[in-house]
Amino acid sequence: MRKPLIAGNWKMNKRVGEAVETVKALVPLVAGITAADIVVCPTYTALHAVGQAVNGTNLQLGAQNCYLKESGAYTGEISPQMLRDVGCMWTIIGHSERRQYFSEADELLNEKLKFALSAGLKVMFCIGETLQERQSGKMNDVLERQVTRGLQGLTVSQLVETALAYEPVWAIGTGVNATPDQAQEAHAFIRGLARKQFGESVAAELRIQYGGSVKPDNAKELMMGPDLDGFLVGGASLKADSFAEIAKAAL
Ligand code: PEP
Repeated sequence: MRKPLIAGNWKMNKRVGEAVETVKALVPLVAGITAADIVVCPTYTALHAVGQAVNGTNLQLGAQNCYLKESGAYTGEISPQMLRDVGCMWTIIGHSERRQYFSEADELLNEKLKFALSAGLKVMFCIGETLQERQSGKMNDVLERQVTRGLQGLTVSQLVETALAYEPVWAIGTGVNATPDQAQEAHAFIRGLARKQFGESVAAELRIQYGGSVKPDNAKELMMGPDLDGFLVGGASLKADSFAEIAKAAL
């Protein structure tokens, strides 16, 4: 049985005070939920304060990105070890905005993934096709490339600490979510790729989140897909009540 994983990606939103306020509002709304892992991913600047606010609660802390070195002359970067130092259990890697705006390609993302895992973080590793790739019939090729190259060289025990987030780029922040059938079809395909690469039993345990315009009113239906194991939520995670509703819909 895979435990649902629901994460809020706050992207470049909320100053420290607002971030702490949001998480303080969220804590009572999801208190007592143990049947799902619930993660909040604020900006770097808010991680420490939010980490303190979630300490002792059932909420887990995640970052949105990290670098592939522990320390040194890498101006502007943050290491997984630094993230652990402020209480992170998780990081997102490979979000489509990192791929698109910061030119992060499969090989770099694979290095980041392996380094974050070896530093003891769990990772939500994002994949997903653009609208053009879907419309031109390339979706499966794109997903196969992202999964195969992205997960290359991972050990089975590292894969257990990894979740995949299927986020079709055309659904992110657009208000147009994948239909439950589209999401399930992609998730089943992705699980099949993991099966080929890592074997049946670890693929059966792999959590695959869906992301892309998830809202309280579509979460329940999306979760019906047998290969959907939770959500990575952008816009709707910025408000405590809508994020809490999504988390409950995933139970
Ligand atoms: C995201 O950016 O990971 C995301 C899924 O955004 P939204 O929920 O706003 O579509």
